[in-house]
Amino acid sequence: MRYFELCTPHYDMRRVWTGSYQADARWMLPGVECPTCGETWSGIALAYPSVDLSRHPLREEFETPRLEPFARYARLLEQVKPWLPPGAQVEPGTTFGPLVGTAEGSFGPLVLRDPWKLLVREDALDAMRTAGLRGLVPVRAELAASSASVPALHELELAVRGRLHPHGPPPCGTCGRVEAAMPEEFRLEGPSLPTDLDVFRLTDAVTLIVATARFVEVARSLGPLDVLFRELPVSSEG
Ligand SMILES: [Zn+2]
Repeated sequence: MRYFELCTPHYDMRRVWTGSYQADARWMLPGVECPTCGETWSGIALAYPSVDLSRHPLREEFETPRLEPFARYARLLEQVKPWLPPGAQVEPGTTFGPLVGTAEGSFGPLVLRDPWKLLVREDALDAMRTAGLRGLVPVRAELAASSASVPALHELELAVRGRLHPHGPPPCGTCGRVEAAMPEEFRLEGPSLPTDLDVFRLTDAVTLIVATARFVEVARSLGPLDVLFRELPVSSEG
């Protein structure tokens, strides 16, 4: 199987689609001040739009982006864990619930404003399902549209599986932060990759969205895209 990274075109490349949206998830874990590595940080990529915290007893604690001391963050994490999909990977800043905001313009079949967040148009989602793509967990974004021409968009909730090869330095034992920046050249660790998903994130590079050749083939059949696919080499070593 061949694998591809989803990329946004260079900022000065001409776009096919005019669509834009401004939206945030309803809930999130706070960022942290970590006593072990000394970093103050919040991740940007991990999102579980299917997780509904509207009945969570501490829901107000998840509504405002902010920083917390690690102990406070850890308590909130324990409180939210039972509400997450099995095996969900989380970090400070992980978001929950659908995107809520506004949208305008025309949208392509795939919408990748940020390289770590993938939305699909409703008809594209139907086509992907018909094609039998695996691992699709769509959640409709709640976007107030400026005109009737703005289509329904669904954020794909991506499972976190597989990793890079070779492995980077170990993450902070307390907060999980990885010190290293992404290397320019990297491979996927073949044996770690899921065999039951056509689109997913990597456990040690969560901002990267990885898709199978099958996903890319279906996506390209849906019409012009403002999304690029860059093939990633795969290492056979684990
Ligand atoms: Zn840390």
